[in-house]
Amino acid sequence: MEKEVSISVKCPICSKSLMEECKLVHNRPSVKINIETTHDRGVLWLSCVYGDCSKEMDIEIADGEVVDMYCPHCNKELSIEETCTECGAPLVSFVIKAGGAVRICSRKGCHNHHIIFKEIGTELSKFYFEYGF
Ligand SMILES: [Zn+2]
Ligand SMILES: [Zn+2]
Repeated sequence: MEKEVSISVKCPICSKSLMEECKLVHNRPSVKINIETTHDRGVLWLSCVYGDCSKEMDIEIADGEVVDMYCPHCNKELSIEETCTECGAPLVSFVIKAGGAVRICSRKGCHNHHIIFKEIGTELSKFYFEYGF
């Protein structure tokens, strides 16, 4: 049986945790991000389990729509210069507390996301081990 790997992330700008302990997605603390579309504002909660694309949000977003994502603490936009190789939308980046970064696509319905490792900490060695990288 495959073990789930959950990651803790923080804002790349203010370094505050983006983990929401009291909002669970798949029984794990979620990653909380403020989102904005062309017509609405809301909150997005992402699963922190790597490889799991489940998410919850409190506003309606159509598939294919690109959302702006903001840190709930410093309100800075989390998107980076790079764009998604699948659909061309801006990528959004979070820092992994154990080292490295997660990048996800800002377009709803696009499941492109990957993890960039900067240094291998204990937690990530475990990740390598469990996933056989
Ligand atoms: Zn921040
Ligand atoms: Zn994409």
